[in-house]
Amino acid sequence: MTRMTPLLDRNEQFAGTYVPVALGPPTAQMIVVSCLDHRVDPAIVLGLQLGEAPVIRNAGGRVTQAVIDDIVYLAFLAEQLFAGQVDADRLFEVAVVHHTQCGTGFLADPEFRHQAAEATGLPEAALVASAVADPHATVKVDVERLLTAPNLSPKVSVSGHVYDIATGRVTTTVDARYPNGSRAA
Ligand SMILES: [Zn+2]
Repeated sequence: MTRMTPLLDRNEQFAGTYVPVALGPPTAQMIVVSCLDHRVDPAIVLGLQLGEAPVIRNAGGRVTQAVIDDIVYLAFLAEQLFAGQVDADRLFEVAVVHHTQCGTGFLADPEFRHQAAEATGLPEAALVASAVADPHATVKVDVERLLTAPNLSPKVSVSGHVYDIATGRVTTTVDARYPNGSRAA
């Protein structure tokens, strides 16, 4: 008996009615970037089903270089593997979702951040970069960061959203647009 035991029981139930999903482009034509916080799981909050959208999660849901690299690769993969299956001009939309009450908000406080850096050995700059004190502000920064990434496919659009822990509601802060500035439908 480990802490995993009850979760494996749930998996047993899941597998009982499971229907395999074939490899294919994400059917919602979306990629979601969100915080790893256990209260903001996009599968539950956005009702995602298997096969609909890759989800990339890290502390804060920040658009780090690692996140950009994953998205660049996914765009390449989609074009290579699914030519003809995906819209030639529009591969997918990336929805960046930040949230209220984010635990990374503590990192906006210099003293807390300094303590965290000392105790963990993580560089202070990395801790600054993951802080979400005002999700409406950081989500705008991150949408810009992704849209201006030099190797982002021009066929990928990006939008920004904030999830409110208090209400369960997601609101759009930045409408979807392509790197060239045109609005996505
Ligand atoms: Zn968070």
